[in-house]
Amino acid sequence: APVAPCSSWSSDSADSDSSGESLYRVVLLGDPGVGKTSLVNLFAGIQERDLPEQPGEDAYERTLSVDGEETTLLVMDTWETERRNRFHNYCMQVGNAYVIVYSVTDRVSFESASELRIQLRRTRQAENIPIILVGNKTDLVRCREVSVEEGRACAVVFDCKFIETSAALQHNVTELFEGVVRQIRLRQDSKEA
Ligand code: GDP
Repeated sequence: APVAPCSSWSSDSADSDSSGESLYRVVLLGDPGVGKTSLVNLFAGIQERDLPEQPGEDAYERTLSVDGEETTLLVMDTWETERRNRFHNYCMQVGNAYVIVYSVTDRVSFESASELRIQLRRTRQAENIPIILVGNKTDLVRCREVSVEEGRACAVVFDCKFIETSAALQHNVTELFEGVVRQIRLRQDSKEA
């Protein structure tokens, strides 16, 4: 199986695994209910029926082939109800990339996304970390409260990438994680150049 729950979060930047490839930590942030777990499960290839029960195990590792090159992502799901807990603080420190998720059917979650972006900027001030803003639940057309234009405009202000997804329809989910890989590589390349 390509999926392995992982609990080795100990060192501070990108790790190398046994094959010598880089491992990057991707942290999902966003209000409860916006679809973070659903997105991570799709990434990890997990079906609803074998979901892990206990929170705290919400990290999944998978190697993606993007543009002919392999990169391993360790995707960590946080939960905002425990915004102040140690795990959340830890995630704010160790991510190599951040995915901030809101639901297009929930304006409050869109506002929370802005707060999270500000919080990230404060925590990781000097670093040029990739951030992807994600408007999820696009399948719920008639319940939409946040337009695609608003999402895009917000991403411009935040200086981050933007994509709309539907975990329910599995729409744009692969594109989201491939985009994360490309953003990480762009930063790596400019660092090495
Ligand atoms: P989390 O709290 O952010 O991890 O959100 P979950 O992944 O647990 O999702 C919360 C609820 O929204 C669940 O009932 C999901 O089935 C549902 N959900 C997640 N993504 C979508 C989506 O794209 N479309 C629809 N219609 N429902 C979704």
